[in-house]
Amino acid sequence: MKRYPIAKPYLTDKDRSSVMAVLNSPYLSLGPRYKEFEKLFAKKIGAKYACAVSSGTAGLHLAMIAAGIGPGDEVITTPFSFIASANCILYVGATPVFVDIDPVTYNMEPAEIEKRLTKKTKAILVVHIFGQAAGMTPILKIAKKHKLKIIEDACESVGAKYNGQNTGTFGESAVFAFYPNKQMTTGEGGMVVTDSRKIYELCASLRNQGRAENMQWLDHQYLGYNYRMDEMSAALGIAQLQKLDFMIKKRQELAGWYSKHLGAFPGLVGAPITARGNSHTWFVYVVKIKNKKTDRNLVIKDLQKSGVSTKPYLPSIHMFSFYKDKFSFKKGDFLVAEAASQSTLALPFYIGLQEKDIKYICNKLIKVLKHHDEKSK
Ligand SMILES: *Cc1c(COP(=O)(O)O)cnc(C)c1O
Repeated sequence: MKRYPIAKPYLTDKDRSSVMAVLNSPYLSLGPRYKEFEKLFAKKIGAKYACAVSSGTAGLHLAMIAAGIGPGDEVITTPFSFIASANCILYVGATPVFVDIDPVTYNMEPAEIEKRLTKKTKAILVVHIFGQAAGMTPILKIAKKHKLKIIEDACESVGAKYNGQNTGTFGESAVFAFYPNKQMTTGEGGMVVTDSRKIYELCASLRNQGRAENMQWLDHQYLGYNYRMDEMSAALGIAQLQKLDFMIKKRQELAGWYSKHLGAFPGLVGAPITARGNSHTWFVYVVKIKNKKTDRNLVIKDLQKSGVSTKPYLPSIHMFSFYKDKFSFKKGDFLVAEAASQSTLALPFYIGLQEKDIKYICNKLIKVLKHHDEKSK
């Protein structure tokens, strides 16, 4: 039986030889590759500067520090995200203030933001979830009106556009991530992009123990971290970046096949929707189970028996025990996010899947959903 994992990276001989070249050199960290990767990545996104770091989470932490967010501040963000986008607010001693999401795109619902503003609100941390941009026009308008900073968590949306503009170019800074399940990978890794020289220099110093640029190890200006990206990761990033457009095209093709084969069963399963004006770069392919009585965990188990791995995607952050305990969140606080968390399922999605594989996966999914649909009647 063929087995389908949820994700896997797309690696070629070019990736391998790029990393090997580093291993044949004496520079495994703080060499020439991370600088080169930064330049190429900044150019690709259309930002002035890029600062390579050890993970997306590390990048988000630095972006929060660089924005001057600290104890007593509140940051508006979404509960329907990977936990790092809320944790980074806690790292700097500030408070995440969640707003509910749009049921179609799963991104932050702009109309909810103003209801949650207080005198302490300093910034909006926008997450572009699953590879599609949030509604930036209304969000930017609110930010301008209330003098709030915008920081983008673009970790899932490399290459995605909103009305023709790249995600990662709307805020004072934005963060990308390169874990192996993302659209492009460096193993572990992340990137902070910005048009501000000051923010770039601060992030570059903070990732390297707060060392003053160009002063070797003579002085440390700030309390810094070791958030450096090593040269093997950077070399892989360069090779991956060269084929990013190709990989995104492939992902769009995969998504098209899924939507084609699921489209015939709109009562059972909802295919993801791309909002007008958006280009979607498909970090994951997430469907919605329509029958609320269907036990999703049994669906996951049944599909696993056919070799098809699937996963609830995503649990809402405010329902994690750490957040629940710390902020006394309860069920019903963010209804749309919770409903999404209960009904969504990520399907196998990686370059290398053929249309016949996707047809097989869809057939299995529909069969299992039909079975559970009948049972619930
Ligand atoms: C992947 C991801 C991150 C960063 O993850 P790392 O594993 O630290 O690179 C941050 N936010 C979101 C929404 C992500 O999907």
